[in-house]
Amino acid sequence: MSKHFQSVKGMNDCLPSETPVWQYLESCLRAVTEMYGYAEIRMPMVEKTELFCRSIGEVTDIVEKEMYTFIDKGEESLTLRPEGTASCVRAGIQNGLIYNQQQRLWYMGPMFRRERPQKGRYRQFYQFGVETFGINGPDIDVEVIALSARLWKMIGLTNVELQINSLGSNVAREAYKVKLVEYFNQHLDDLDEDSKRRLVSNPLRILDSKNPAMKGVINDAPKLLEHLDDESQAHFDSLCEKLNALDIKYVINSKLVRGLDYYNRTVFEWVTTELGSQGTICAGGRYDGLVEQLGGQSTPGFGFAMGLERIILLLKQQSGLEDKLSTKIDVYLCTLGDKAENAGMILAEKLRSEYPKLRLQLHCGGGNFKKQLKRADKSEAEIALIIGEDEVDKNQITVKYLREKKEQISVALVDIKPILLDLI
Ligand code: ATP
Ligand code: MG
Repeated sequence: MSKHFQSVKGMNDCLPSETPVWQYLESCLRAVTEMYGYAEIRMPMVEKTELFCRSIGEVTDIVEKEMYTFIDKGEESLTLRPEGTASCVRAGIQNGLIYNQQQRLWYMGPMFRRERPQKGRYRQFYQFGVETFGINGPDIDVEVIALSARLWKMIGLTNVELQINSLGSNVAREAYKVKLVEYFNQHLDDLDEDSKRRLVSNPLRILDSKNPAMKGVINDAPKLLEHLDDESQAHFDSLCEKLNALDIKYVINSKLVRGLDYYNRTVFEWVTTELGSQGTICAGGRYDGLVEQLGGQSTPGFGFAMGLERIILLLKQQSGLEDKLSTKIDVYLCTLGDKAENAGMILAEKLRSEYPKLRLQLHCGGGNFKKQLKRADKSEAEIALIIGEDEVDKNQITVKYLREKKEQISVALVDIKPILLDLI
Protein backbone atom coordinates (compact mmCIF):
# COMPACT_ATOMS: atom_id res chain seq x y z
CA MET A 1 0.00 0.00 0.00
CA SER A 2 1.31 3.45 -0.75
CA LYS A 3 2.15 5.88 1.99
CA HIS A 4 -0.56 7.84 3.75
CA PHE A 5 0.64 11.43 4.02
CA GLN A 6 -0.04 13.58 7.07
CA SER A 7 0.13 17.36 7.18
CA VAL A 8 3.16 19.00 8.77
CA LYS A 9 2.86 19.21 12.56
CA GLY A 10 1.11 22.39 13.66
CA MET A 11 -0.12 23.18 10.12
CA ASN A 12 -3.79 22.41 9.78
CA ASP A 13 -6.34 21.97 7.04
CA CYS A 14 -9.38 24.19 7.16
CA LEU A 15 -12.14 21.78 6.18
CA PRO A 16 -15.43 22.64 4.44
CA SER A 17 -17.23 22.33 7.78
CA GLU A 18 -14.95 25.04 9.19
CA THR A 19 -14.77 27.51 6.32
CA PRO A 20 -18.18 29.14 6.92
CA VAL A 21 -17.12 30.54 10.30
CA TRP A 22 -13.81 31.72 8.80
CA GLN A 23 -15.64 33.42 5.94
CA TYR A 24 -17.99 35.06 8.43
CA LEU A 25 -15.06 36.42 10.48
CA GLU A 26 -13.24 37.56 7.34
CA SER A 27 -16.32 39.41 6.09
CA CYS A 28 -16.66 41.20 9.44
CA LEU A 29 -12.98 42.16 9.32
CA ARG A 30 -13.38 43.57 5.83
CA ALA A 31 -16.51 45.44 6.86
CA VAL A 32 -14.83 47.05 9.86
CA THR A 33 -11.81 48.21 7.81
CA GLU A 34 -14.17 49.82 5.31
CA MET A 35 -15.98 51.64 8.10
CA TYR A 36 -12.71 53.29 9.13
CA GLY A 37 -11.26 53.87 5.64
CA TYR A 38 -8.34 51.40 5.80
CA ALA A 39 -6.87 49.96 2.59
CA GLU A 40 -5.71 46.39 2.09
CA ILE A 41 -2.08 45.51 1.38
CA ARG A 42 -0.83 42.01 0.45
CA MET A 43 2.79 41.09 1.05
CA PRO A 44 4.77 37.98 0.07
CA MET A 45 5.00 35.11 2.54
CA VAL A 46 8.78 34.88 2.25
CA GLU A 47 11.25 37.65 3.02
CA LYS A 48 14.98 37.98 3.50
CA THR A 49 15.85 36.67 6.95
CA GLU A 50 17.65 39.84 7.91
CA LEU A 51 14.43 41.85 7.69
CA PHE A 52 13.00 39.98 10.68
CA CYS A 53 16.26 39.93 12.66
CA ARG A 54 16.61 43.69 12.27
CA SER A 55 13.00 44.53 13.17
CA ILE A 56 11.67 41.94 15.62
CA GLY A 57 15.01 41.80 17.42
CA GLU A 58 17.76 39.15 17.63
CA VAL A 59 17.01 38.35 21.26
CA THR A 60 13.31 37.49 21.03
CA ASP A 61 11.51 34.14 21.10
CA ILE A 62 10.53 34.57 17.47
CA VAL A 63 14.00 35.19 16.05
CA GLU A 64 15.88 32.94 18.48
CA LYS A 65 13.71 29.85 18.21
CA GLU A 66 10.63 30.12 16.06
CA MET A 67 11.54 31.11 12.51
CA TYR A 68 11.40 28.82 9.48
CA THR A 69 14.62 29.86 7.82
CA PHE A 70 16.29 28.24 4.82
CA ILE A 71 19.09 28.94 2.39
CA ASP A 72 17.71 29.44 -1.10
CA LYS A 73 19.86 27.50 -3.58
CA GLY A 74 22.95 27.95 -1.48
CA GLU A 75 22.83 31.70 -1.82
CA GLU A 76 20.50 33.73 0.32
CA SER A 77 18.91 33.19 3.73
CA LEU A 78 15.13 33.47 3.46
CA THR A 79 12.40 33.11 6.12
CA LEU A 80 8.69 32.30 6.08
CA ARG A 81 7.18 35.42 7.61
CA PRO A 82 6.49 35.02 11.34
CA GLU A 83 4.47 38.27 11.46
CA GLY A 84 3.28 41.04 9.12
CA THR A 85 4.56 44.35 10.43
CA ALA A 86 8.14 44.01 9.20
CA SER A 87 6.98 43.03 5.70
CA CYS A 88 4.42 45.83 5.65
CA VAL A 89 7.05 48.42 6.57
CA ARG A 90 9.44 46.96 3.99
CA ALA A 91 6.73 47.09 1.32
CA GLY A 92 5.77 50.62 2.34
CA ILE A 93 9.32 51.93 2.07
CA GLN A 94 10.07 50.05 -1.14
CA ASN A 95 6.95 51.36 -2.87
CA GLY A 96 7.04 54.92 -1.59
CA LEU A 97 3.88 54.62 0.50
CA ILE A 98 5.31 55.97 3.70
CA TYR A 99 7.57 58.97 3.10
CA ASN A 100 5.81 62.23 3.84
CA GLN A 101 2.31 60.78 3.93
CA GLN A 102 -0.25 59.15 6.14
CA GLN A 103 -1.34 55.56 5.57
CA ARG A 104 -3.99 53.37 7.14
CA LEU A 105 -3.45 49.80 5.98
CA TRP A 106 -4.62 46.28 6.79
CA TYR A 107 -3.53 42.78 5.80
CA MET A 108 -4.64 39.24 6.41
CA GLY A 109 -2.85 35.95 5.84
CA PRO A 110 -0.82 33.06 7.18
CA MET A 111 2.22 33.46 9.45
CA PHE A 112 4.73 30.77 10.43
CA ARG A 113 6.39 30.09 13.77
CA ARG A 114 8.00 26.88 14.89
CA GLU A 115 6.38 26.70 18.33
CA ARG A 116 5.02 23.77 20.31
CA PRO A 117 1.52 23.26 18.86
CA GLN A 118 -1.37 23.37 21.34
CA LYS A 119 -4.89 24.77 21.47
CA GLY A 120 -4.69 28.30 20.03
CA ARG A 121 -1.01 27.92 19.08
CA TYR A 122 0.02 26.53 15.71
CA ARG A 123 2.98 26.58 13.34
CA GLN A 124 0.97 28.06 10.50
CA PHE A 125 -1.63 30.49 11.81
CA TYR A 126 -3.58 33.41 10.41
CA GLN A 127 -3.29 37.02 11.40
CA PHE A 128 -5.35 40.05 10.55
CA GLY A 129 -3.31 43.18 11.12
CA VAL A 130 -3.63 46.93 10.87
CA GLU A 131 -0.69 49.31 10.38
CA THR A 132 -0.81 53.10 10.29
CA PHE A 133 2.04 55.38 9.29
CA GLY A 134 2.83 59.06 9.62
CA ILE A 135 0.60 59.86 12.62
CA ASN A 136 2.08 60.61 16.01
CA GLY A 137 -0.96 59.81 18.12
CA PRO A 138 -2.44 59.29 20.58
CA ASP A 139 -5.51 60.01 18.43
CA ILE A 140 -4.55 57.28 15.97
CA ASP A 141 -3.67 54.89 18.83
CA VAL A 142 -7.23 55.25 20.06
CA GLU A 143 -8.74 54.94 16.57
CA VAL A 144 -6.95 51.65 15.99
CA ILE A 145 -7.98 50.34 19.40
CA ALA A 146 -11.58 51.48 18.75
CA LEU A 147 -11.55 49.59 15.44
CA SER A 148 -10.64 46.39 17.28
CA ALA A 149 -13.24 47.07 19.99
CA ARG A 150 -15.87 47.53 17.28
CA LEU A 151 -14.96 44.19 15.77
CA TRP A 152 -15.57 42.40 19.09
CA LYS A 153 -18.98 44.05 19.25
CA MET A 154 -19.76 43.12 15.67
CA ILE A 155 -18.98 39.44 16.20
CA GLY A 156 -20.42 39.33 19.70
CA LEU A 157 -17.30 38.73 21.80
CA THR A 158 -17.83 40.03 25.29
CA ASN A 159 -15.28 38.46 27.62
CA VAL A 160 -12.25 40.36 26.34
CA GLU A 161 -10.21 42.77 28.38
CA LEU A 162 -8.10 45.60 27.00
CA GLN A 163 -4.72 45.92 28.70
CA ILE A 164 -2.52 48.92 28.00
CA ASN A 165 0.92 50.09 28.96
CA SER A 166 3.57 52.55 27.81
CA LEU A 167 7.15 51.61 27.03
CA GLY A 168 8.22 55.26 27.01
CA SER A 169 10.99 56.64 24.84
CA ASN A 170 14.15 54.73 24.00
CA VAL A 171 16.19 57.01 26.26
CA ALA A 172 13.89 56.60 29.26
CA ARG A 173 13.72 52.86 28.65
CA GLU A 174 17.53 52.57 28.73
CA ALA A 175 17.56 54.29 32.13
CA TYR A 176 14.82 51.95 33.34
CA LYS A 177 16.75 48.92 32.06
CA VAL A 178 19.65 49.82 34.35
CA LYS A 179 17.30 49.75 37.36
CA LEU A 180 15.72 46.52 36.16
CA VAL A 181 19.07 44.77 35.75
CA GLU A 182 20.08 45.95 39.22
CA TYR A 183 16.88 44.48 40.66
CA PHE A 184 17.14 41.12 38.84
CA ASN A 185 20.81 40.84 39.82
CA GLN A 186 19.66 40.94 43.42
CA HIS A 187 17.23 38.07 42.70
CA LEU A 188 19.37 35.86 40.49
CA ASP A 189 18.23 32.68 42.27
CA ASP A 190 14.64 33.30 41.17
CA LEU A 191 15.51 33.57 37.46
CA ASP A 192 15.23 30.69 35.00
CA GLU A 193 17.99 29.99 32.48
CA ASP A 194 16.37 31.97 29.66
CA SER A 195 16.01 35.00 31.89
CA LYS A 196 19.59 34.81 33.17
CA ARG A 197 20.76 34.92 29.58
CA ARG A 198 18.44 37.79 28.78
CA LEU A 199 19.59 39.74 31.78
CA VAL A 200 22.68 40.43 29.69
CA SER A 201 21.23 40.50 26.18
CA ASN A 202 17.72 41.97 26.54
CA PRO A 203 16.54 42.44 30.15
CA LEU A 204 13.12 43.88 29.25
CA ARG A 205 12.23 40.51 27.68
CA ILE A 206 12.32 38.95 31.16
CA LEU A 207 9.06 40.79 31.94
CA ASP A 208 7.45 38.94 29.00
CA SER A 209 8.41 35.50 30.39
CA LYS A 210 5.64 32.89 30.20
CA ASN A 211 7.22 30.79 33.00
CA PRO A 212 4.77 30.69 35.97
CA ALA A 213 7.68 30.20 38.38
CA MET A 214 8.93 33.67 37.43
CA LYS A 215 5.68 35.43 38.26
CA GLY A 216 6.61 36.56 41.77
CA VAL A 217 9.96 38.06 40.93
CA ILE A 218 8.49 39.83 37.88
CA ASN A 219 5.58 41.22 39.87
CA ASP A 220 7.91 42.91 42.34
CA ALA A 221 10.23 44.37 39.70
CA PRO A 222 10.45 48.15 39.19
CA LYS A 223 7.57 49.39 37.01
CA LEU A 224 8.22 50.76 33.56
CA LEU A 225 5.27 53.13 33.89
CA GLU A 226 6.97 54.82 36.83
CA HIS A 227 9.99 55.64 34.70
CA LEU A 228 8.43 57.38 31.71
CA ASP A 229 9.83 60.53 30.10
CA ASP A 230 7.51 63.57 30.24
CA GLU A 231 6.37 63.36 26.61
CA SER A 232 5.52 59.67 26.82
CA GLN A 233 3.69 60.31 30.09
CA ALA A 234 1.59 63.03 28.40
CA HIS A 235 0.95 60.70 25.44
CA PHE A 236 -0.18 57.95 27.79
CA ASP A 237 -2.40 60.28 29.86
CA SER A 238 -4.07 61.53 26.69
CA LEU A 239 -4.54 57.96 25.43
CA CYS A 240 -6.34 57.04 28.66
CA GLU A 241 -8.45 60.17 28.53
CA LYS A 242 -9.52 59.47 24.93
CA LEU A 243 -10.35 55.84 25.70
CA ASN A 244 -12.49 57.11 28.57
CA ALA A 245 -14.22 59.55 26.23
CA LEU A 246 -15.16 56.66 23.94
CA ASP A 247 -16.14 54.57 26.95
CA ILE A 248 -13.65 51.85 25.99
CA LYS A 249 -12.76 50.04 29.23
CA TYR A 250 -9.13 49.13 29.90
CA VAL A 251 -6.78 48.05 32.62
CA ILE A 252 -3.22 49.29 32.94
CA ASN A 253 -0.76 46.41 32.97
CA SER A 254 2.69 47.76 33.77
CA LYS A 255 4.32 44.41 32.91
CA LEU A 256 3.06 44.39 29.35
CA VAL A 257 6.16 44.69 27.13
CA ARG A 258 5.21 42.58 24.07
CA GLY A 259 7.40 39.93 22.51
CA LEU A 260 8.90 42.09 19.77
CA ASP A 261 11.59 44.73 20.12
CA TYR A 262 10.29 47.46 17.84
CA TYR A 263 7.67 48.99 20.13
CA ASN A 264 7.85 52.31 22.00
CA ARG A 265 5.23 54.27 23.97
CA THR A 266 1.76 52.69 23.71
CA VAL A 267 1.45 48.90 23.78
CA PHE A 268 -1.80 47.00 24.21
CA GLU A 269 -3.33 43.54 24.21
CA TRP A 270 -6.88 42.21 24.15
CA VAL A 271 -7.00 39.21 26.46
CA THR A 272 -9.65 36.60 27.18
CA THR A 273 -9.73 34.16 30.07
CA GLU A 274 -11.54 31.59 27.95
CA LEU A 275 -8.57 30.09 26.10
CA GLY A 276 -6.23 29.15 28.93
CA SER A 277 -2.71 30.43 28.48
CA GLN A 278 -3.33 31.32 24.81
CA GLY A 279 -5.52 34.23 25.95
CA THR A 280 -4.16 37.11 23.85
CA ILE A 281 -6.31 37.52 20.75
CA CYS A 282 -4.97 40.87 19.57
CA ALA A 283 -1.76 42.71 20.34
CA GLY A 284 0.00 45.80 19.11
CA GLY A 285 1.36 49.23 19.76
CA ARG A 286 3.47 52.13 18.59
CA TYR A 287 6.68 51.61 16.63
CA ASP A 288 8.08 55.04 15.83
CA GLY A 289 11.62 53.83 15.17
CA LEU A 290 10.90 50.90 12.88
CA VAL A 291 10.64 52.65 9.50
CA GLU A 292 14.00 54.34 10.01
CA GLN A 293 15.52 51.13 11.36
CA LEU A 294 14.55 49.42 8.10
CA GLY A 295 16.08 52.12 5.95
CA GLY A 296 13.22 54.61 5.48
CA GLN A 297 12.82 58.19 6.64
CA SER A 298 11.88 58.45 10.31
CA THR A 299 8.07 57.98 10.39
CA PRO A 300 5.79 57.13 13.31
CA GLY A 301 3.79 53.91 13.15
CA PHE A 302 1.03 52.24 15.11
CA GLY A 303 -0.66 48.87 14.55
CA PHE A 304 -1.76 45.51 15.83
CA ALA A 305 -2.15 41.87 14.81
CA MET A 306 -4.97 39.51 15.72
CA GLY A 307 -4.65 35.73 15.93
CA LEU A 308 -7.62 34.51 13.93
CA GLU A 309 -7.61 30.86 15.13
CA ARG A 310 -8.07 32.08 18.70
CA ILE A 311 -10.99 34.27 17.67
CA ILE A 312 -12.52 31.35 15.76
CA LEU A 313 -12.26 29.19 18.90
CA LEU A 314 -14.18 31.86 20.82
CA LEU A 315 -16.76 32.24 18.06
CA LYS A 316 -17.41 28.51 18.05
CA GLN A 317 -18.33 28.66 21.74
CA GLN A 318 -21.04 31.20 20.94
CA SER A 319 -24.66 30.17 20.74
CA GLY A 320 -26.72 31.17 17.72
CA LEU A 321 -23.73 31.36 15.42
CA GLU A 322 -25.22 28.75 13.08
CA ASP A 323 -27.95 31.16 11.98
CA LYS A 324 -25.35 33.64 10.73
CA LEU A 325 -23.53 30.97 8.75
CA SER A 326 -26.17 29.55 6.44
CA THR A 327 -24.41 28.04 3.47
CA LYS A 328 -27.12 25.55 2.55
CA ILE A 329 -28.04 25.30 -1.08
CA ASP A 330 -31.57 26.27 -2.13
CA VAL A 331 -32.21 24.09 -5.14
CA TYR A 332 -31.06 20.64 -6.26
CA LEU A 333 -31.72 20.06 -9.95
CA CYS A 334 -32.31 16.45 -11.03
CA THR A 335 -32.38 15.28 -14.64
CA LEU A 336 -33.87 12.01 -15.89
CA GLY A 337 -32.76 10.61 -19.21
CA ASP A 338 -30.23 11.70 -21.86
CA LYS A 339 -32.39 14.39 -23.40
CA ALA A 340 -33.08 15.93 -20.02
CA GLU A 341 -29.42 15.89 -18.99
CA ASN A 342 -28.43 18.60 -21.45
CA ALA A 343 -31.68 20.52 -20.93
CA GLY A 344 -31.03 20.47 -17.18
CA MET A 345 -27.47 21.68 -17.61
CA ILE A 346 -28.61 24.57 -19.80
CA LEU A 347 -31.44 25.44 -17.40
CA ALA A 348 -29.06 25.43 -14.42
CA GLU A 349 -26.78 27.98 -16.11
CA LYS A 350 -29.78 30.09 -17.15
CA LEU A 351 -31.17 30.16 -13.60
CA ARG A 352 -27.75 31.08 -12.18
CA SER A 353 -27.62 34.03 -14.59
CA GLU A 354 -31.15 35.15 -13.75
CA TYR A 355 -30.95 34.64 -9.98
CA PRO A 356 -27.34 35.28 -8.89
CA LYS A 357 -28.31 34.88 -5.23
CA LEU A 358 -29.85 31.46 -5.76
CA ARG A 359 -27.69 28.56 -4.57
CA LEU A 360 -28.29 25.86 -7.11
CA GLN A 361 -26.58 22.51 -7.38
CA LEU A 362 -26.99 20.43 -10.53
CA HIS A 363 -27.00 16.67 -10.13
CA CYS A 364 -23.99 15.16 -11.88
CA GLY A 365 -22.99 11.56 -12.30
CA GLY A 366 -26.24 10.04 -13.57
CA GLY A 367 -28.32 7.49 -11.68
CA ASN A 368 -32.01 6.73 -11.37
CA PHE A 369 -34.68 8.93 -9.82
CA LYS A 370 -34.39 7.36 -6.38
CA LYS A 371 -30.64 7.88 -6.22
CA GLN A 372 -30.91 11.48 -7.37
CA LEU A 373 -33.62 12.27 -4.83
CA LYS A 374 -31.48 10.79 -2.09
CA ARG A 375 -28.68 13.17 -3.07
CA ALA A 376 -31.16 16.05 -3.17
CA ASP A 377 -32.30 15.21 0.34
CA LYS A 378 -28.74 14.96 1.64
CA SER A 379 -27.85 18.29 0.03
CA GLU A 380 -30.21 20.02 2.51
CA ALA A 381 -31.76 21.98 -0.38
CA GLU A 382 -35.28 23.29 0.17
CA ILE A 383 -36.57 22.02 -3.16
CA ALA A 384 -35.64 19.62 -5.90
CA LEU A 385 -36.36 20.67 -9.47
CA ILE A 386 -36.87 17.67 -11.69
CA ILE A 387 -36.65 17.52 -15.48
CA GLY A 388 -37.50 14.37 -17.42
CA GLU A 389 -38.19 13.89 -21.12
CA ASP A 390 -41.82 14.76 -20.55
CA GLU A 391 -40.99 18.07 -18.91
CA VAL A 392 -38.58 18.95 -21.71
CA ASP A 393 -41.24 18.34 -24.34
CA LYS A 394 -43.88 20.37 -22.50
CA ASN A 395 -41.59 23.17 -21.26
CA GLN A 396 -42.49 22.25 -17.73
CA ILE A 397 -40.67 21.44 -14.54
CA THR A 398 -41.54 19.38 -11.49
CA VAL A 399 -40.99 21.03 -8.12
CA LYS A 400 -40.61 18.73 -5.15
CA TYR A 401 -40.58 20.32 -1.69
CA LEU A 402 -38.09 18.41 0.43
CA ARG A 403 -38.45 19.85 3.92
CA GLU A 404 -41.55 20.74 5.95
CA LYS A 405 -44.13 20.33 3.21
CA LYS A 406 -43.45 17.33 1.06
CA GLU A 407 -45.76 18.10 -1.86
CA GLN A 408 -44.80 17.84 -5.49
CA ILE A 409 -46.18 20.09 -8.21
CA SER A 410 -45.78 20.57 -11.92
CA VAL A 411 -45.40 24.10 -13.25
CA ALA A 412 -44.72 25.72 -16.58
CA LEU A 413 -41.09 26.86 -16.81
CA VAL A 414 -42.21 30.46 -17.20
CA ASP A 415 -43.99 30.28 -13.84
CA ILE A 416 -40.98 29.20 -11.80
CA LYS A 417 -40.02 32.74 -10.77
CA PRO A 418 -42.13 33.17 -7.59
CA ILE A 419 -41.07 29.75 -6.36
CA LEU A 420 -37.38 30.61 -6.69
CA LEU A 421 -37.75 34.14 -5.31
CA ASP A 422 -39.37 32.62 -2.26
CA LEU A 423 -36.11 30.79 -1.53
CA ILE A 424 -33.70 33.74 -1.70
P1 ATP B 1 1.97 34.71 22.48
O1 ATP B 1 2.34 35.47 23.69
O2 ATP B 1 0.62 34.05 22.57
O3 ATP B 1 3.05 33.80 21.98
P2 ATP B 1 2.96 36.75 20.74
O4 ATP B 1 3.27 37.86 21.65
O5 ATP B 1 4.05 35.87 20.26
O6 ATP B 1 1.79 35.82 21.36
P3 ATP B 1 2.30 38.46 18.50
O7 ATP B 1 3.56 38.24 17.80
O8 ATP B 1 2.05 39.75 19.13
O9 ATP B 1 2.07 37.26 19.54
O10 ATP B 1 1.10 38.10 17.52
C1 ATP B 1 -0.19 38.70 17.63
C2 ATP B 1 -1.25 37.66 17.85
O11 ATP B 1 -1.13 36.55 16.97
C3 ATP B 1 -1.20 37.00 19.22
O12 ATP B 1 -1.81 37.81 20.18
C4 ATP B 1 -1.98 35.73 18.98
O13 ATP B 1 -3.37 36.00 19.02
C5 ATP B 1 -1.58 35.37 17.59
N1 ATP B 1 -0.52 34.34 17.60
C6 ATP B 1 0.80 34.50 17.82
N2 ATP B 1 1.46 33.34 17.71
C7 ATP B 1 0.52 32.41 17.37
C8 ATP B 1 0.56 31.00 17.08
N3 ATP B 1 1.69 30.32 17.09
N4 ATP B 1 -0.60 30.37 16.78
C9 ATP B 1 -1.77 31.04 16.74
N5 ATP B 1 -1.87 32.36 17.00
C10 ATP B 1 -0.74 33.04 17.31
MG1 MG C 1 4.77 33.97 20.84
